[in-house]
Amino acid sequence: MLLYRLSLLYGDDFPMNVQLLAHTPDPDKVVATAAKLCYSDSDIGSLYDGLTEEKTAKFIDMLVSIGHESPIEHVSFTFGIEGISRVTSHQLVRHRIASYSQKSQRYVSEAQFDFITPPLIESDPNMNAMYFEYMMRTQQFYDYLVDHGIPKEDARYILPNACSTSIVVTMNARSLFNFFKHRCCNRAQEEIRNLANEMLRLCKEVAPLIFKYAGPSCVAMGKCPEGKMTCGKYNEMQRKYKG
Ligand SMILES: Cc1cc2nc3c(=O)[nH]c(=O)nc-3n(C[C@H](O)[C@H](O)[C@H](O)COP(=O)(O)OP(=O)(O)OC[C@H]3O[C@@H](n4cnc5c(N)ncnc54)[C@H](O)[C@@H]3O)c2cc1C
Repeated sequence: MLLYRLSLLYGDDFPMNVQLLAHTPDPDKVVATAAKLCYSDSDIGSLYDGLTEEKTAKFIDMLVSIGHESPIEHVSFTFGIEGISRVTSHQLVRHRIASYSQKSQRYVSEAQFDFITPPLIESDPNMNAMYFEYMMRTQQFYDYLVDHGIPKEDARYILPNACSTSIVVTMNARSLFNFFKHRCCNRAQEEIRNLANEMLRLCKEVAPLIFKYAGPSCVAMGKCPEGKMTCGKYNEMQRKYKG
């Protein structure tokens, strides 16, 4: 019943498994050094060594206030992500300023594929049972195709977007800021929003000075760009991300 396990987990806040696998060492300090270099004639070693945490924080605040974003490109973050749907991975890979490696449905068999169930479907027992039945039938048809000599690369055409996938993603901090602006927003779809929020939480643990400014557009830019489509929760979002 592995199939059903993930389906049940989706209802939790963080059904997916997101790990920060690696990041540039001392990200806050590297960014502050790169930025300080632009405005100083000191050598780089002295700039780096002279940066206390207080000075680093002050410099990053200054960068943000003047919109000087390129220094944050010098630090990168690599995430290992498991247990997301192909719906979400497809939205994720639309972010082009990044590197990706995703589990292949061409080389890896989807016999016994895991699948993700959206909470709204899961909360309705009848709909959830029909959904589960649909996944089981899809699984049976996939197995039938493979058992009758159809290669995995062709059998995969019948697999649903609900299929669970794994992906390794590397983004620099500037690209992550853009990703968080779009995907932490209440207007983003729930699963990718959960993913973005978890990635932001992990970034804040290792680079709190840089990422204290990150979040949905209303937090990062100070105003909601959604016009009439706004979620109307500006104050709540400020508290959630800046609190
Ligand atoms: C709520 C929501 C709804 C969406 N709906 C749809 C939809 O219906 N259909 C759809 O196709 N997509 C949709 N998208 C995806 C969206 O259009 C973007 O493709 C995705 O969010 C990636 O954003 P990005 O291009 O800013 O990121 P990246 O690709 O990482 O690019 C980062 C930044 O680099 C610059 N850049 C990158 N490439 C170029 C380029 N070729 N030319 C100029 N500048 C560039 C831009 O400034 C860009 O913002 C949606 C996204 C969201 C958040």
